[in-house]
Amino acid sequence: MLIRLQNGCTPYQESKIQETIAAMGFSTTAVVTQVAKYIVCSGSVDVDIRQIGALTGVADIHHVDNESILVSKQWKVKDTSIDLGDGVTISRNDLSIALGPCAIESEQQIDTIVNFLSDQRIRVMRGGVFKPRSSPYAFRGLGLDGLKLFSAACRAKGIKVVTEVMQVSQIEAMYPYVDVFQVGTRNAQNFNLLEALGKQDKPVLLKRGMSSTIAEFLASAEYVFSSGNERIILCERGIRTFEKAYRNTLDLNAIPLLKAKSHLPVFSDPSHGVGIRAFVQDMALSSVMAGADGVLMEIHPTPERAFSDAQQTLSFAEAKQAIAFMRECADMKRGWGMT
Ligand code: PEP
Ligand code: MN
Repeated sequence: MLIRLQNGCTPYQESKIQETIAAMGFSTTAVVTQVAKYIVCSGSVDVDIRQIGALTGVADIHHVDNESILVSKQWKVKDTSIDLGDGVTISRNDLSIALGPCAIESEQQIDTIVNFLSDQRIRVMRGGVFKPRSSPYAFRGLGLDGLKLFSAACRAKGIKVVTEVMQVSQIEAMYPYVDVFQVGTRNAQNFNLLEALGKQDKPVLLKRGMSSTIAEFLASAEYVFSSGNERIILCERGIRTFEKAYRNTLDLNAIPLLKAKSHLPVFSDPSHGVGIRAFVQDMALSSVMAGADGVLMEIHPTPERAFSDAQQTLSFAEAKQAIAFMRECADMKRGWGMT
């Protein structure tokens, strides 16, 4: 159930409404949008909604059977655009391309990549400094010191920083150096982390859990939104299936489906999605044709020597070709009137 508050609803009236709803057995979350303030009520409680409608300060009440209402098109008809500042916007009108190494490794590696991105007019760089690795003995990233170098190099060129946050306690220290917090597949259902990211004001790139259904993926995004942050990018990155011939199965179906269900921008990560360098470009192009609003890929000046995910990382020459082809696909789609 959703309660829209009247525009002039006072804090006292609002707390009375919250108290009454809570006493009925609902748990409540207040959500403020550009349009109005709402109270999202969860719980399967049988009430006569006229009792709620009679409370001072209530504008109207909606029954919803969608557990991910805020990220759905039922909530917002217009698609969400995310302004990252300095003229960088993530939206459905333009193809976003975010490139960078799996892991930030050194100042020299950062500078080489930043220069390449600048030459290619790419305004978003990805790179992990806290790396979730399946083995505790693998390279686990340069941490905050690496992030500071990464951020300084990007800021000097107007490039936006996307990096993974693994736990709630890292958010505060990372905050000044990050433009978009990435939530990795392994943390896609870390609800404490999602809530904490909902309480800060930087955008969140949420990867799909490797075994998340679409409904679970949207519910994860709902955690962030219902905690107060509506600047979320959904990212399909491949799911675990019975197939072992490639790292993951990039679920291309998810791209148009998520765009139909949600107002949020939808990205694809073909690097993790297929996990094999030779096929990353094909899956990137397929993602664009399937409707991805953005593509995130791993690149490295010397991919074979990358500290992590070398097998799926593109060289600059490969990335350059992929960028040109993706842009051509996006132009073609625009010509066809496809979004
Ligand atoms: C990454 O982007 O490097 C990464 C670890 O991604 P995922 O969480 O999708 O595996
Ligand atoms: Mn990686």
